[in-house]
Amino acid sequence: MRKKETFSDVIYRNYLKENLKKECYICGRKKDLELHHKIPLNCCGEDILDNIIYLCNKCHRNIHKIDNQNPTAKDYLKRLKILRKNKKNG
Ligand SMILES: [Zn+2]
Ligand SMILES: [Zn+2]
Repeated sequence: MRKKETFSDVIYRNYLKENLKKECYICGRKKDLELHHKIPLNCCGEDILDNIIYLCNKCHRNIHKIDNQNPTAKDYLKRLKILRKNKKNG
């Protein structure tokens, strides 16, 4: 269950948006961007700038496909790396 968003949450999110590179971490697209935690919070990820990236909605959906496989934090990072690599080679 999610707690209600506080004023400081909004400030924090705006801070993130201003300090993150505004392109998809995987494919470099600059449209349809969404914030994503590299290591999800429910997977012992932290809510810090280092753990947050922009993904376009397409790559975002892709990376969350492993959610129903009971993934670990490592799985997420591995998946991110693979997606990035594929993009570069393709
Ligand atoms: Zn993308
Ligand atoms: Zn996400």
